[in-house]
Parts: sequence; structure tokens; C-alpha cells
Amino acid sequence: MARFEKREIDRLYGQSSVGVVIHRDLVALYVNDAYARMMGCRDAADFMTDPELLPYIPPAFHREALRLYQKFMNASGFHGWKKVYNLRRDGVPVWLEISDETIDWEDSRALMTTAQVIENGSTAMQVDHMLGRSFIGVAVHRDMCALYVNDAYARLMGAENASDFMKTPDLLRFVEATSRDVTSATSEKILQGVFDGSRRRECKHLDDGSEVWCDLTDERILWHDGKPAILTTAHDVREEVRMNNMLVRSRNSLQNAVAEVIRMVPTAVAMFDEDLHVLHFNREFARLFAQNPGVYPAATPEFDVSGLRLVYREMVATGHDHADRNGVVSPSGRLTDIRINRLDGGGMMVSALDVTDHKEVEKQLAVLASTDPLTEVLNRRGFEGAVNRLRDIRRLRNKKWHYGIATLDLDYFKHINDRFGHACGDRLLQEVAAVLRGALRDDDLVVRLGGEEFAVLLPSATGKITQTIAKRLADMIGDIRLQDDDGNAGAVRITASVGVTVGGEVGDQNGEVDLSTALLVADRALYQAKQNGRNCIVYADPTVPAAVILPEAASPDETQDKD
Ligand code: GH3
Ligand code: MG
Ligand code: MG
Repeated sequence: MARFEKREIDRLYGQSSVGVVIHRDLVALYVNDAYARMMGCRDAADFMTDPELLPYIPPAFHREALRLYQKFMNASGFHGWKKVYNLRRDGVPVWLEISDETIDWEDSRALMTTAQVIENGSTAMQVDHMLGRSFIGVAVHRDMCALYVNDAYARLMGAENASDFMKTPDLLRFVEATSRDVTSATSEKILQGVFDGSRRRECKHLDDGSEVWCDLTDERILWHDGKPAILTTAHDVREEVRMNNMLVRSRNSLQNAVAEVIRMVPTAVAMFDEDLHVLHFNREFARLFAQNPGVYPAATPEFDVSGLRLVYREMVATGHDHADRNGVVSPSGRLTDIRINRLDGGGMMVSALDVTDHKEVEKQLAVLASTDPLTEVLNRRGFEGAVNRLRDIRRLRNKKWHYGIATLDLDYFKHINDRFGHACGDRLLQEVAAVLRGALRDDDLVVRLGGEEFAVLLPSATGKITQTIAKRLADMIGDIRLQDDDGNAGAVRITASVGVTVGGEVGDQNGEVDLSTALLVADRALYQAKQNGRNCIVYADPTVPAAVILPEAASPDETQDKD
């Protein structure tokens, strides 16, 4: 047995890169600087402030360390090399190759251990120390064969614990037969470092036929045999997968429900995906927006939805979530009111109401409301509307707005009814209206103000022109000959009294003679015509206060005469 003293040891090993520790009962008697540094201390003196060796040995190996120490102390000489791992003072594992030798140290037996750090080497023990108790599964493997697994990984894969698992370290058995080649190739690439085994979600098939879902990460490490291996962590995500499947299922059934509702509603409805392609639609939508509506439901039609996409983009660009457009002509030529809603996950919901028939009815109602049913000329309400429109158009064009107006009242119309009957009176009213309508231009307005009283409005006409035209109209009415109910041709005839004036922006003043004033003035002239003996025309100037009323083509003397 070699006999040593501190001075001699120091001379031999003090500067050596090989670590040396001489100890008794696992308490250091001497360490060199190299050993101290391997153990994470500054130098030998630093190490010796607490010479106990057990703190540097992982607790799981304390018993083994003591057992070996006793065994070596009972025998002499060199006890061989082995690989162990120790903990540095800061707790970091360090893999060492050590040799033990029994020596005499200052007259008493001690154990001399030399140590060298195995650089960059991982060992099952090191991994186990770091990850053995982790709830995350850890496996180190190469060529699809496990070199190490922790208990969590073993249990995840259906084994009782790590050593149970390692009885069958083959990993390919968890991979479906059809994907084994791909998996092996991928694993090989990770080993070569040409493929980073980034995070992935995988289903593993266990021996008992059940499945386990894991989030896996792969990392290339250097194993203690000096060759690379793959360190895989596995996190059980069965619950997440179950939840996700449930969400997908409920989303699908919700989508089916939505599709069913869309199918059933009478309004045209369609749901578009984020690329603005039609996802769900109903029959009405196909009728309005398909280029070939006839193919539905036998086949999915081609849609012309470019207009809808345009509205959607405009809506998004202006930061709105919905848009309404009324009176849009659909590709099938129908008039529609459209509403577009932006959907949360992108895409849009479109509803379109066919208002073509509705608009047609509205138009007919408007005509009915503004037309006299007996004579089919305007009624008073329609007349006012038409006059307002005329005025607005003229003003839009910045033109002076004025017109001539003549009110006509049939003379002694009561007698017609009395003599020929009410139906005959009606026919005569229709004939008068037709004569007025036929004698005037399209721009001119004819209105039945009520009973047997009509008015005509001539846009832009002066008082003089209006009087001329009124005369022509009165003559034409006077020329009407209708057959009576007894078949007497030409028995029914009539004359009319006419009041004429002008309205709008007339005269020099800035103001305007409004329609009701013009009608009032014309009515006063008409009254005067009646006073003058009927079948005549009287003009009244609305710009003269207390309008001077003159009989047409009559001198003041004649007027007085007729009074
Ligand atoms: P005047 O020369 O003063 O106007 O005498 P007139 O008989 O025409 O005047 P009046 O106002 O006394 O009578 C108008 C008549 O017109 C009375 C009414 O029975 C008749 N009348 C009003 N509306 C209609 C209608 O829609 N159809 C028929 N057939 N007669 C109507
Ligand atoms: Mg009358
Ligand atoms: Mg009358």
C-alpha cells in the first residue's frame, strides 16, 4: 500500500488537471485545485472550508457511496475506474470518470479518488436527476429505441414505471404502421441536426388499443456514449383534445343548424366565408343571385355576387359592421333591399328581400291616390304633387318658374244629369277630360278639381298664351256631341266657363304666386265668367292687388253690361 504525505501529494498532483481527493469516512483530508474546481469551488482552500463529500453526491447514491467506501477500506489497492455523477456545490450535476485507490495517509488508511470531467456528456442519471420526478414525460432515444424514460413518460405510454417501460424500449410500437417509415426518417433527421423537432401534437397507440394524445418536443442532445440522442418531452393533452373535439362538434352542429335556418327562411339568405365565397345559401338566394338559377337544387349554382362583395369591402373600409342598400337590382333583374352583416371570424351574412312586387304595388297605389277614377286625369292631390315636381325641376335648372292656369266649370251641368241621367253626365265628364288631355302637350297638367270643374296648367305659358289655349279648349268642349240613352245622336252637348290667370314667379316682384293663390284668383275669374253669362273666358292678373278681372276679348263696358 502506497504511503503518502500531503507535501508529496501536492508535489505530484497539486498542479495536475486530474482532480484528486483523499478522504476518510467521506470527509476530505486533501483536495487539489482541479478537483475543487470540478466541484464548483474557487480552489482547494475554498473546498476545504466544508470538507464533507456527501453534499456532492446525489442523495439517492449516499447509501451506495457509503457501502462502496466500506468495501474499499476493507480491501487494499486499486479499485478500478467507473463513471459516476456528482453534484457541484451549486447543485449542477457533473459527470465524472473516477478511480479509487486505498492508500496510507499520514499513518492511517484513506481512500484516494482521482476524477476527470466527462465533457458534454449526458447520462441517464443526470437526466434522471433533472427530470426523473417531472410530471412532464421525458424520453431519450435513438433509432426509435428508448435509452432512458422517466416515470411520467412510462405511465403516459401505459407502463407501470420507467423500468417496466424499459423492458420493451422500442418506440415504433406506439406509431401507426403506415407512418412508421416517416417517423423513423424524421427521427433520423433530428439526430443529424437537419430538422428541428419543433413542437407537435401526436396520437400514440398503446398496447391495449387505447390512444393517448401528447404535445411533443424534440431536442438533440449529446448522450454519454459520445453520440447524439433525441430528448423528447411529452405532455399529456388528452383533455385538451377531448375539449377541442367537443368544440369542433358543437361548432359543426351549430353550423348545420344555421344552414337549416337559412334554408327555411323565405328571405334570400347566404353566409360567406372569409374569402367571400358562398358557404350556405337558400333557394330564394339562388333565385336572386345565381347566374343559372335553374340548376338549383339539383346542383350548386354559379353566383354573381360581385356587387355584394363590393358593398362588403366598402363597409369594412369605412369601419362598419353592417350595411343596408335599398333598391339594388339583383343579377336576376329583381329589385332588392339588401342587408350585409360582417361575421366575427371573417366573412359575411347577406339577406336580400325581393321588393319588386311591393314597389310595383306602391307605384300603382301612388297612381291611384293621385288620379281621378272616373276621368283618369289627375285629382287635386296628384295635381299638387305634379306642380311641386315641375317647380323643383325648373328650380334645379335655375330657370324662372311660371305657368298659366285655367279653371273650367261646365255650364248648367245639373241640367245634363236631370235630363239625360247621371250615367250620361259621367260619360260627358269623361269626354271633356279626354278632350282636354288630347288637346294639350305631355308637359301640361289636367286636373279634375271636383264635380264638373277642371283645371289645366301650362308650364312657362304667359297669361296671353293661356287665354288663347283656354279659348281653344272651350271651343273643343263646345263641339262635343254625345248620344243620349234614347239613341239621339248629338243630343248631349255642353259649354264651359273659364277663369284664367298665371302663377309662379310672375311680374317684377321677387315673390311667387303660389298654387293655391293662383287657383283662388282663377276661381274668382271663373266666377266672374259665370256672372258674365257663362260660355266665356275671364283673365285675372294676380300681381294687381284685388285682382282686376277682365272678361276675355271684352271691353270694360261690355263687362258692365253683362253685370
Ligand atoms: P253652373 O253653370 O252654375 O256651374 O251650373 P251647374 O249646374 O253646372 O252647377 P252646380 O254646381 O249647381 O251643379 C254641378 C252638378 O254637377 C251637381 C252635381 O250633381 C253634378 N256632378 C258633380 N259631380 C258629378 C259626377 O261625378 N257625375 C255626374 N254625372 N254629375 C256630377
Ligand atoms: Mg257647373
Ligand atoms: Mg261647378
